[in-house]
Amino acid sequence: MSPPGGDAALRARAARVVPGGMWGHLDTRRLPAGYPQFFTRAEGGHIWDANGQRYVDLMCSWGPIVLGHHNPVVDAAVARQTALGDCLNGPAPVMVELCETLVERVAHADWAMLQKNGGDATTACVTIARAATGRNTVLIAQGSYHGALPWCTPVPAGTTAEDRANQGRFIYNDLASLQAAADATGSDLAAVIITGFRHDNVVDQEMPSLAFAQGARALCDRLGAALIIDDVRAGFRLHRGCSWERLGVQPDLSAWSKAIANGHPLAAVLGRDSLREAAARVFITGSFWCGAVPMAAAVATLAEMDRIGLPDYLEELGSYLRAGMANLAQRHGVGLRQSGPVAMPLWLFDDDPGFEKGGAFCRATLEHGAYLHPRHNMFLNAAHTQVDMDAVLAAAEAGFRAVGAA
Ligand code: PMP
Repeated sequence: MSPPGGDAALRARAARVVPGGMWGHLDTRRLPAGYPQFFTRAEGGHIWDANGQRYVDLMCSWGPIVLGHHNPVVDAAVARQTALGDCLNGPAPVMVELCETLVERVAHADWAMLQKNGGDATTACVTIARAATGRNTVLIAQGSYHGALPWCTPVPAGTTAEDRANQGRFIYNDLASLQAAADATGSDLAAVIITGFRHDNVVDQEMPSLAFAQGARALCDRLGAALIIDDVRAGFRLHRGCSWERLGVQPDLSAWSKAIANGHPLAAVLGRDSLREAAARVFITGSFWCGAVPMAAAVATLAEMDRIGLPDYLEELGSYLRAGMANLAQRHGVGLRQSGPVAMPLWLFDDDPGFEKGGAFCRATLEHGAYLHPRHNMFLNAAHTQVDMDAVLAAAEAGFRAVGAA
């Protein structure tokens, strides 16, 4: 039973004043029954729903929370900048500091521009590439998510065919398909946009192969097109710089958001000098794009990531969780596929085309205090501890029992 002011009561009120009760990917009708829609509080690696139940949070607000909810260093930077001012007639000095930090940090970046959401950044990358090349066509991997704007939303209701004109599709990690898509554009290729790794919903995650990354770079160089890395989801969580730096491949443009400011609304486009003139020429802006508080949060977040050695910590914790899950799955005789980086795990069950097993598993883990997702990658944050991972594994034990019974 939901208490007064609890989840059920809030849903009933929302249903009257919000179409469908909630919009987009946070609508719990997209999830198995049992997920709370409303949350009242968060701290470190935990969240509380509107019924007062506490969970180990393995969604981390779908990526933005990287240091933990209410990180004290970020909160202090936010308080200092809030006292000075946030939404002003132009940017505060912290904008320059943040752009300098980003340019210093990311190997391919000679300049930076700031926005709010990931979709702002991916759209800006495409716009800048088109302005720079004077061409139209953008190649996008089938199934990759780049935001919910008309050119890229996965649910095309309300968009027109023209919104998606000038696009081609290829398959992630399949260089021949990228070459074929490029050939089909004739001499009109403006850009190729690729996520840092393959983290599409509902399919096993894949790291980019070296041959694919190098091939994509060579193809863009040969055709005079911009290579865009969409690092909105993976960016800064797994590496200090751009995801493809690890492979020695540098893009021309990159899009960032999510983890950049530990939950404060901020996105960035980083680019090479060759795109600087076009980036200065396009007109992209927003009422809140120069908000100083999220920028101060980002400066503090990036410094704190370095201080604690973020990628190594998440790798260690994620490896512990992955090994524990593999162990449990084996003990219960359940086919579980864990894919992607250990700090951004995706768990899918064998022989589960309708996600019934995933649903049963997650419902049971919810009841045992772990907030997981049945078909989207999850996220660890730096406030999680081994004790939290043990709590997830204890909840997973109940989950595996439910799958066995399903
Ligand atoms: N690109 C990627 C890879 C993403 O994961 C997302 C968000 N999930 C976006 C772009 C869009 O970001 P936003 O929802 O902040 O517009």
